[in-house]
Amino acid sequence: MLFPPRCVSCRERGSLLCAKCRDEFELVEPPLCPHCGRPMVSDRLCPLCQREPLQIDGIRSVAYFDGTLREAIHHFKYYNLQDLAIPLGKSTSDYWKKSPLPAEIIVPVPLHIDRLRERGYNQATLLARELGKSIGLPVSENSLVRVRATRPQVDLKAQERKENVRDAFRCSNMGLMEKRVLLIDDVYTTGATLEACSIALRQVGARSVWALTLARARSW
Ligand SMILES: [Zn+2]
Ligand SMILES: [Zn+2]
Repeated sequence: MLFPPRCVSCRERGSLLCAKCRDEFELVEPPLCPHCGRPMVSDRLCPLCQREPLQIDGIRSVAYFDGTLREAIHHFKYYNLQDLAIPLGKSTSDYWKKSPLPAEIIVPVPLHIDRLRERGYNQATLLARELGKSIGLPVSENSLVRVRATRPQVDLKAQERKENVRDAFRCSNMGLMEKRVLLIDDVYTTGATLEACSIALRQVGARSVWALTLARARSW
């Protein structure tokens, strides 16, 4: 190997993300809102879920979108470092082993085809494959389609995010009927994207839809 990999965070040689830096991820620990996974002082429904419950059955995240994890996800998405799916997928499967969710099939949150062509890969699909291999669940990569290009959610306020992703997803795989689906994405901000995906999956009769994201924005 002419160029042995270096850790994207500490630059140590040997791997794209060393074990020491992976240990620095700040895990999302209970107590959490049982529905949206928001960190709380007790395991009660959070005020937002009390006021306006999501239709998705539940959302959980591995770690906060900060520091080393934020850096790693940035490299994973924008620097074509697809092999980061391996250590990041390991963090996701480590989480799963402690806190599994109801699931029979994994579905990654899709990118719009234009974005997919531009980037060359969907980071959520790569994570889903790693998790699927590790926990022995099938991954359905093309069941869910993003039919409408959407603006980056990060620039929008909560209400605008909902509008932005409304009807943006379609599911045509009737094979998901009666299945317990696990959605996978890299980052959870308001949950509007996950909610829109879950509505599309419910339309084909999915029995339940839970979501697991690698990272969770702290401010939501
Ligand atoms: Zn490192
Ligand atoms: Zn909640």
